[in-house]
Amino acid sequence: MVRCMAYWICIFLLAFNAQAQVRDEAISKQELQRYLNSQRKASKRSSDLSIDIYKVQLTMQVNMNNAQIERASVGYKFISLSTISVLDLDLRNELTVDSVVYHGQTIVFSHNNHLLNCFLPQTLGFNVSDSLEVYYHGTPNMSNRAYSRTVNASGPAISTLSEPYGASYWWPCRDNLKDKIEQLDVDLIVDTPYTAASNGVLKSIRSFGSKRQFHFEHRYPIATYLVAIAFANYNVYAQLAHLSSINQDLPLVNYVYAHNDLNTIQNQTAATVPIMALYDSLFGTYPFANEQYGHVQFSWGGGMEHQTMSFMVNFGYDLIAHELAHQWFGDQVTCANWKSIWLNESFATYTNLLCYDFLKTPSDFRQRIVQFQNDVMSAPNGAVFKQDTTDANQLFDYRTTYQKGAMVLHQLRWVLGDSIFFAAIRNYLADPLTRYRFADQNQLRSHFEALCNCSLKDYFDDWIMGEGYPNYHLIWRQSGTSLSIEVNQSNSMNNAIEYNVPIPVLIKGSYKDTLLVLPVNQLHQIHSFNLPFVVKDIECDPDHYLLGKFKVNGTYLTGPNVNVYPNPFSNHLYLWHEKESIQHWSIYAPNGQLVKQAQTDLMPGDVLDISFSDLAQGIYTIQFGNSNNVYTQKIVYIKP
Ligand SMILES: [Zn+2]
Repeated sequence: MVRCMAYWICIFLLAFNAQAQVRDEAISKQELQRYLNSQRKASKRSSDLSIDIYKVQLTMQVNMNNAQIERASVGYKFISLSTISVLDLDLRNELTVDSVVYHGQTIVFSHNNHLLNCFLPQTLGFNVSDSLEVYYHGTPNMSNRAYSRTVNASGPAISTLSEPYGASYWWPCRDNLKDKIEQLDVDLIVDTPYTAASNGVLKSIRSFGSKRQFHFEHRYPIATYLVAIAFANYNVYAQLAHLSSINQDLPLVNYVYAHNDLNTIQNQTAATVPIMALYDSLFGTYPFANEQYGHVQFSWGGGMEHQTMSFMVNFGYDLIAHELAHQWFGDQVTCANWKSIWLNESFATYTNLLCYDFLKTPSDFRQRIVQFQNDVMSAPNGAVFKQDTTDANQLFDYRTTYQKGAMVLHQLRWVLGDSIFFAAIRNYLADPLTRYRFADQNQLRSHFEALCNCSLKDYFDDWIMGEGYPNYHLIWRQSGTSLSIEVNQSNSMNNAIEYNVPIPVLIKGSYKDTLLVLPVNQLHQIHSFNLPFVVKDIECDPDHYLLGKFKVNGTYLTGPNVNVYPNPFSNHLYLWHEKESIQHWSIYAPNGQLVKQAQTDLMPGDVLDISFSDLAQGIYTIQFGNSNNVYTQKIVYIKP
């Protein structure tokens, strides 16, 4: 595919103070602040779903000195989904509508309570393709920063951030999570030398007088809150990522404030290349592969995953990884409601962690997982799913919406295995019912269930809907080669939740260990194993897959200093030595006759089970040892 893009670079070697890398927690903080701002609006919003908008042409000319929208228009192409005579659009009262044009004629409209009602001259029937244009201007209400102007060392900058309900602060729209716009054209007009950025591909720049017009085209479905524009004195440069899934290069276009040191920023944004390659391989082709991905610097405290063009306060590794992950989780597939915001945020957070799993060292990954485990279990409560979307603190709670959700995904990956886990996510993203649309968690669950051929209802009930985490108490007992492990579980909130996640346990002996997996599906269970060495300790979840606190007690029933036991014995005679290997053993009858002997390679801590079923009851002598030491002991055999 031929791409028509314009790149230009002007380098100003000004001092740049690199900002500290923004941690995920900062990401959640700014996403919370954004939502709190939106709550303050409390405006009436269009609930009209009687049309499907399939094309939007947004044209806007701004004044960089005072942030004013000097003139703007939005043209809609839509299909009626029912019989309609009035077309509603969300638009804040601070903006003035100049006219509404329908079939070349101005029509009557009203604009009250942040709602623009366009009265069609005649009723429109069902399934009719039609169009309408709105012309407006004004200075947006900037209190919530959905549209904002800041001034930095490069001069004035204007940018937008509409999530979740800020779009109507700067353009008339359907501000909902129901309808995506299939085709978006954006024309941005601004004084030279300012540069404009928006979603999709820059197709042309036209100069006229002192101004330039930037024309962008985006040809993938886009949710209203992901439409964004920015103007500033930007340096623009492109890097290339390779999408191995389709063997195609993808431009990464970066708009950075001109006063930044370009080399520094370029080194930081270069991290996008391997992260893009990783996500492309794990989750399927980058969702907007015919166009581009990029970053636009703005002045919010964090980032925002605007489709094809994340807006970034800086270019820290985790911020790049988080916002890029949202292109799959949030943009390609958008949560169908705010209760399910974890479908955006938990996935972006876990996907960010996967960069450490696949691109960094095992200890980097482990360190972050352990941190997440500790953070999530630092308080006993909290669910991933948010029943109450009016409680913004809960909705964007970093510990539960981001971290717990990420750990629940990590744990599910352990339960299902990598191949099913990642294949199910790819299927979820590729499903025609979710791809470029909205999704709820039942749709996600059904894709996991289809591949594991199992029900995950309990898992989602316990871990997504349920509050808290399990406390596990394991009690082990060993006698000879028989090991039993009793598993008791309770919920951190004392809720009646029976978790059913298998628990990996590392059984440690003096010189060897083995990993066992304990199936768990009851509050109290006992598992028995044959174990040919003496247990010194048991470590639960050694590789940090699980959420849960573990307490372990155990005993070795015959004591550590006895080498031959039990004595007297009826069924089994066990032989072991804690510190020495045993290379041979011999059994002598009461008359001194040798009745059994064998060479062994018993390591210290190993246990050997010697059968006496073919011998008569009586008092025997056992001799065992190695090239350095030989031990002798009387044993009493009572025939059962
Ligand atoms: Zn996010």
